Formats: sequence, C-alpha cells, structure tokens
Amino acid sequence: MTQEYIEIRGARENNLKNVDVRLPKRKINIFTGVSGSGKSSIVFDTIATEAQRQLYENFSMFIRNLLPRYPQPNVDVIDKLSMAIVVDQKRLGGGSHSTMGTITDISPVLRLLFSRIGKPFAGYSNVFSFNDPQGMCPECNGLGQKLGFDGTKFYDPDKSLREGALQVPGFASWEKDMYANTGYFDVDKKLSDYTEEEMDLLLYSPPRKFKLRMGEGTMNATYMGIIEKFNRSYIKRDLKTLSERTQKMVAPYMQYGPCPLCKGARLNQQTLSCKINGQNIASLSAMEVGELIPFLREIDDPIAQPMIETLTERLQHLVDMGLEYLNLNRPTDTLSGGESQRVKMVKHLGSSLIDVLYIFDEPSVGLHPRDVYRLNSLLTKLRDKGNTVIVVEHDPDVIRIADHIVDVGPMAGSKGGNIMYEGSLAGLLKSDTLTGKYMNHAFALKEQYRKATGHLPVTHAKINNLRDVSVNIPTGIMTVVTGVAGSGKSSLIHHAFLTRYPEAVLVDQSPVGTSSRSNPATYTGIMDLLRKAFANANNVNASLFSFNSKGACENCQGSGVIYTDLAFLEGVKTPCEICQGKRYKDEVLTYKLDGKNISEVLEMTIKEASEFFTAKDISKKLQTLMEVGLEYLTLGQPLSTLSGGECQRIKLASELHKKGSIYVMDEPTTGLHMSDTGRLISLMDRLVDGGNTVIVIEHNLDVIKSADWIIDMGPEGGHKGGQVIFEGTPKDLVAVKDSHTGHYLKQALS
Ligand code: ADP
Ligand code: ADP
Ligand code: ZN
Ligand code: ZN
Repeated sequence: MTQEYIEIRGARENNLKNVDVRLPKRKINIFTGVSGSGKSSIVFDTIATEAQRQLYENFSMFIRNLLPRYPQPNVDVIDKLSMAIVVDQKRLGGGSHSTMGTITDISPVLRLLFSRIGKPFAGYSNVFSFNDPQGMCPECNGLGQKLGFDGTKFYDPDKSLREGALQVPGFASWEKDMYANTGYFDVDKKLSDYTEEEMDLLLYSPPRKFKLRMGEGTMNATYMGIIEKFNRSYIKRDLKTLSERTQKMVAPYMQYGPCPLCKGARLNQQTLSCKINGQNIASLSAMEVGELIPFLREIDDPIAQPMIETLTERLQHLVDMGLEYLNLNRPTDTLSGGESQRVKMVKHLGSSLIDVLYIFDEPSVGLHPRDVYRLNSLLTKLRDKGNTVIVVEHDPDVIRIADHIVDVGPMAGSKGGNIMYEGSLAGLLKSDTLTGKYMNHAFALKEQYRKATGHLPVTHAKINNLRDVSVNIPTGIMTVVTGVAGSGKSSLIHHAFLTRYPEAVLVDQSPVGTSSRSNPATYTGIMDLLRKAFANANNVNASLFSFNSKGACENCQGSGVIYTDLAFLEGVKTPCEICQGKRYKDEVLTYKLDGKNISEVLEMTIKEASEFFTAKDISKKLQTLMEVGLEYLTLGQPLSTLSGGECQRIKLASELHKKGSIYVMDEPTTGLHMSDTGRLISLMDRLVDGGNTVIVIEHNLDVIKSADWIIDMGPEGGHKGGQVIFEGTPKDLVAVKDSHTGHYLKQALS
C-alpha cells in the first residue's frame, strides 16, 4: 500500500509563519518544540479544528443555517483528514454519580454478572445500580455519604465529667450536669479511662427512663446518649428549618461522612446480601483493579465466562495504562488530569474504529519513567489497528517511538512558529535543533546539596493510601517528592501537608485571571501604570484608557470579540467589526504616549515594551516577566489563551522577589520542553537562594537530580504504596535497590 499523507499548507494560526507540514497516515507523529513555539497552534487550532469543521459541514444545510458560521482555521489547504478524536487532559467531570466503573462501561457488565450468578438470586441487573431507585441505599439515596457530625468534638477525653469533659454545642450547663447526675458514671473518672460499654452509654444510648438525682430527692426523666440526643435535635430535622443562629452553631461540627446504613457502598441491604464467592458488588467495586482481575478469574461458572472475559479484558486495559491502583468506585472528578487522559484512552482502546485520527496532548503527564513503556505500547497498538496518531510530547522516552517527528521553533511566540525539522528520529538526533541537542545532552548529578534550615513535620498522615506516614519536610532547600503514579505523593503533599501548612503557596498550572478580560498587563498591575501615564501625557481622565469602562468600544464592550453562545456546541468567537478587535473607541486611540496609542502599546510584546518604556515602575514589572521567560507574550494577550506552563510562569513572576515563603508545585514540567525545564529549574534555584522553601512533586529526572532532598513514595501504587521508602539526597537515592525512582535515575546517569 502506498503511504498516504495528511497535507497542511500555509498554516498561519497564532504565531505560525505560513508553514507546511506533511504527516504520514497510520503512523505515530510526534510534535516537539519549546513551550509557546506553536505546537498547539498546528495540532489543536489548525488540524483538530478543521477536522471538527469538516464534520460540521456534514450537517444538512437546514441545521447549518441555524448556526453561525464555524470559524475556519487560518490555513490554505488541509488534505486527507480523517475523523479526529481529541484525547486531552481536561478533567472528567460528572459529579459523584460518575465513577471509573460507569465511565469505562465496566460497571454495567459487573451488574449483569451479579444478576446471573449472584446468590441469593436477585432479579434484574438494575438493582445493582446505585443510580437506580431499586438499588440505591434509601438512607443516602445512593450517594454513599451523608451529612453527619464529628462526635469526637463533643468531649475532652482528658477530663472527667466533674471537670467539664462535655462540650456539646447547644447544650445548656444544666443539661451537661444532668449527665453527671444520672448515677450511671463515675464523675471523677477521665473519659479516656471509660470502658467501651460506658462510652457507648454516654454517647449512643437510645432513650430510657431513669430517676434523676435532684439534691436530696429524685425525679423521673429520660436519658439519651449525647450523640443520639444531638442527632434528634438537629440532624434528623431538616437543617434549613433551624434558626440561623442554631445553624451557625452546629455548622462547625457537621461534615460529610460515610452513610451509616450502607457504610459508603451506596446500595440497599438486600442488594448487598447478594454475593459471588463471598463478596458483594460493593466490595468488588472497592477492590483495586489489579486485585479484581484475579478474583474474577477464580469464578468457575460456565454461564459467567463470556461476561468475565469482557470484564477482565477491559480491566486489563486499565492495568496496561498503569491504573491498577484505582477502583471502580472512584468518582471521576477526583482523578488527576493525567489519570483522566489515560482513562479516556482506555475507552478508545476498546473501540473498533479504524482510520481515525487520534490526537493526544502530552499523554505522559503523571507517569513515572517506569510506566512510560505502557503508554508507548498503547500508542503503538492504536497505530497498528490502522489509525493515525498525533502526539504533542516532551518526554524523550515517548519521542523515541515516533515514526515521524515535527519540531516547531526555534523559540516561543513571535520567535517561533517555524518548522525546524520534519522526519525520522535518527534525523532529529543529528539535527541542530534545540530538541535534537537536548535529546543527546549529558546527564549528571550535582556536586553540592544545600543544607536544610529547619523542617516542617507531617505526622501520622493516613489519608487515602498513606500508611501512618510521618515525615519531616526540610525548609530553605528544594525537596522533590517522587514515586510511581498512585504511590501517595498528592495525598501526602496536597492533603496532609497543605492542610497543616495553609500559608504555603501552591504554584500550579491552573488558569490565571478572574475574567476573560485579564491579560499580562492587568494581571501584573502594569495596566494601571499605563493608564496613568497616558492620562498625564494627554491631560485627560485615566478611566478613558480602560477597556472595562469609559473608553471601551460600545459594540463589544471592550472585549474585542463578539461571542455567540451555542446551545449544544462550543460557543464561537468572532472579532468585533466596529473596533476590529482593538477594544477601544476611536476617540481614545487619538491619544498618544511617545507616539503610540493604547491599543498599539497592548500589542507590544513584553520585550518590546521593556525597550519602549523607561519609567522605573513599569520597567521593573516587565523585567520580572522577562526573567520567567515570557518576553514573547504581548501585553494584551488574553490570559485565557495561555498554556498551563505559561500560567505557571506568570504566577511565579509575582513570587520571585519574596522571601521566607513555602512554594508547592505539582508536576511543574507539564507542557515544558527539555530546554524550558532547564529554565524552570533555574527559577526554582533562585527562589531557594532567595530564602524560600520549594517542594515539588515530579517524575522528570532533570528536576529530580536538581533536588537537594528527595522523599520517595512507594514502593508501588494504591494499597501497595503509601509509605516513604527513601529520604535523602539524589546521590544516595541512586544506591537504593527497591526504589523505582533510584533505578531510573541510575539508568539515566549511565
Ligand atoms: P505550544 O503548543 O508550542 O506551547 P502554542 O501553539 O500554544 O504553543 O502557542 C504559540 C504562540 O501563540 C504562543 O506565543 C501563544 O502565547 C500564542 N497564542 C496561542 N493561542 C493564542 C490566541 N488565541 N491568541 C493569541 N495568541 C495565542
Ligand atoms: P500519586 O500522587 O502518587 O499519584 P495519590 O496520592 O493521588 O498518588 O493516590 C494515592 C492513592 O490514593 C491511590 O490509590 C489513589 O487511587 C487514592 N486516592 C487519591 N485520591 C483519592 C480520592 N479523592 N478518593 C479516593 N481515593 C483516592
Ligand atoms: Zn447509604
Ligand atoms: Zn469592539
């Protein structure tokens, strides 16, 4: 068969310099290049958009007339496109009713299995669904969780009743005294010394009649455990019917906890009594995928075999993607970006489509070097089924499996947008491009490690899979937390550490800016300085130069674009016809500062602006943006168009000159080229040298080797992880036999 190509000619989206690209079909095509060079502009804004548009052209004229015209990417020709499926890192939403099991279509098959061979026999497979009224737990309506309260806050175990151990909100002091006067308890015994039975009586006893001691006499009264009483007073009633004062009072004690009836299983008791080999459907759904497969293989029932084959095949795909530590119950909105992307991949792997164009956005995110081979084998499988695969990627180990590489550059923004190299891997390695050079660069450990100035302890952390972890996080140096996916890095840092040290600053890649109108100038405060400068130079009001107020183009209200909301497709933006996207009224544009109007200034790159402006306050802010490598952004570029890596750097810019802060970063190298990673490491070094503490979760070996201190989690993911297996310098980590991170670091050094 002759090789077919997707032909792209004259691509000019964003920073692309009228480029041509020729991608072999049914091959793995990998796009490389520094962050901001234009990879997404070709892959997503040109190829994926055109594929989407062509699909749209297939709608009937009638339907299309109801919709505004779909924007055509700025390109002369795209030939031989197939239907495209974009597998990105957008989180899987869906709320608490969307789980790993539902999204991968594994749960329905498991339900079918229970309805066929579960004992005692239960009717329809619907009763096994917590989304179905017939199956759901009546207590929590299938949520598995219920609003309850933290009863341990109601008493001080180190005190006796006489010393005032009870601190129940809303109980008057005579009510508290009443517990002491029941005659049931030794009023001088500390609660921590109570027997199990006494504690049960104090907290949970249902109502019972008793004689309350009143001075010399007694009186008939009703006794109830504290928690029982609190429950009846507040919880069993609709909270909204309580007075605002009472709501405020009980709020601090309220929290979502496992449903007391189903214990989080979400199903009703009858459904839960139906079992296969001693396990009900809830316990199978709570089992890690890696354990569930062998359990299913044990089932010895001829009726079940076809279902078991379907189940184990799908579950095996999850294992192949390195997700064996997840369980089917896991709500999809708690998965990380990288995990979400891999779950989406699994969905596609099961499909029988061929000749599809699959587009992936840095699929290696979140994967430990140990697991990258799994991703590679999945990409290869998709290709071998007859599909075209396009991947934007920075990881050298993924780049190495490409049939065809397109390197975009040489640099970012206006200095990028060219095709620097197109062809085989061997050719790239010999080429003079930045990517080629970095693929060959020498890898060595640093000589000197900084000494910690102190430490921040995390003690007895048990969240998720953490096994009672106690660890000291050093201050004043750079610590990297490593370990395979699912080993517990996020649980340790996001849940255990950040909740204890809320003053720590999380510098992540999430979008910056509160509105679609934010840009680098507004974000850094440069805009305010510019408005004043323009106002002074022209003797007019500063508000005229704000596109959020008086000076704004009236047609687009200063946004520069007209946004058309579409009911069932993504909305469409078109440039405003009145101001041509300039955002200001014509009148405003007549005012100049050193010969430029405000719109011309906002079109300057940060580098250009730094050469144009001499005023100290403006220069200083521009300088900081240059230091984080964002010199190529224009002052007016909407922050919503920034990549994750660019968002991260603009946030870092505002932190660069601070002292004594704690910074936490989660996979900061996402979206970064190997050369960008080098720059990021220098920035982190500057933060540390400036007297700050830096804590990073990373898989990237370049970052790992730059650490002063490593905390390696493991040994594996899920219940096989959750332990600190190493603390020390990278140099010492290399020698640790049982550490996957140590192993891969060693391999990279040789
Ligand atoms: P990469 O994917 O290589 O990181 P991109 O294609 O996202 O790079 O970006 C290339 C350049 O185009 C960058 O300077 C980026 O800031 C800019 N850019 C991206 N999207 C837009 C947009 N919608 N409007 C203006 N500039 C944009
Ligand atoms: P890492 O950051 O090393 O990839 P995580 O801390 O995210 O690991 O996960 C550790 C374990 O805790 C895994 O088994 C994961 O499935 C589980 N886990 C993480 N977050 C949640 C959550 N929100 N709900 C339930 N389990 C979770
Ligand atoms: Zn329940
Ligand atoms: Zn306008």
